[in-house]
Amino acid sequence: MIAVAIDTGGTKIAGAAINENGEILEKNHIDNVERTGPFILNSYFKIVDLFQAKYHIDTIGVGAGGRIDPLTGEVVYAVDLYREYIGIPLKTRLEEKYCKPVTVDNDCRLAVIGEKWLGAIRSYNNVFGLIIGTGIGGGLLLNGASVSGTKGGFGEIGHAILHPHGRHCLCGQFGCVEKYVSGTALWQRYNELKEKSQIQITSGYEFFSCVRQNDPAAQKVLCEFIEDLTLCAVTCANLYDPQALFFGGGILDTSDLWWDAFVKEYELQSNPHLQKIELIRTILGNNAPLLGAAYVAFEACGNPSDLMNCYD
Ligand SMILES: [Zn+2]
Repeated sequence: MIAVAIDTGGTKIAGAAINENGEILEKNHIDNVERTGPFILNSYFKIVDLFQAKYHIDTIGVGAGGRIDPLTGEVVYAVDLYREYIGIPLKTRLEEKYCKPVTVDNDCRLAVIGEKWLGAIRSYNNVFGLIIGTGIGGGLLLNGASVSGTKGGFGEIGHAILHPHGRHCLCGQFGCVEKYVSGTALWQRYNELKEKSQIQITSGYEFFSCVRQNDPAAQKVLCEFIEDLTLCAVTCANLYDPQALFFGGGILDTSDLWWDAFVKEYELQSNPHLQKIELIRTILGNNAPLLGAAYVAFEACGNPSDLMNCYD
């Protein structure tokens, strides 16, 4: 069997053709330039069309941002960053167009599933994952199974309040984790510290270039990030009682700059019980959500004979 797997990131929408062994046959992406529901859905169509022209596709698995209803695949909620997105029945639209089984789940949850299937947490059954990229999200594996919650919002760490009365979040609250522990938070905070006349940056990538150049403002922001990430990690360890906390997402590409300091800070801030919990980094990188999306899609086709009616 072959699945088209899709991962909807803040800057690009990635697609891959993946077989049942988890081999990535081909990858592609579309820049997420519009960040609207119609643009995102249209990008899904383009990605599926591309792979369908080359492979016999059996199923489609999508990782999307926000709260996705686990049964209907509808976008229940997302922050204001995406226009005309809430309410789109992603699963139905794809099923109608391609007449193939489709699964849709939250992208962060899928990153954890991908890493459980073929990555860094293969031998663990109880893990909470923090996925830090443009934003931040979470995913829980409990007894080896992913937990969705009532409407797909389980483990939504990004909107836990970290600093009461803090920075205003797109979700409407103040002081959310996402405003402190995310790629976007890093470059925005850096700009705040710089004089307005000085060069302003617009991406996490630029922020980490400044860190590598020993820019004092960037170093200060990175220290704040490590402290805030530690508070999140300690809270999650207490809430979920996992064997391991897992860390994935684009920010982990830079972990040589902050991981050791973070581990030290976690040991300082956490109680002795929490120190037995392992801290594990991604090994699949940005393939993790694609592999998770493929896994869930294959799992939903557990009995392929039931799905024969949907085949071309
Ligand atoms: Zn929020």
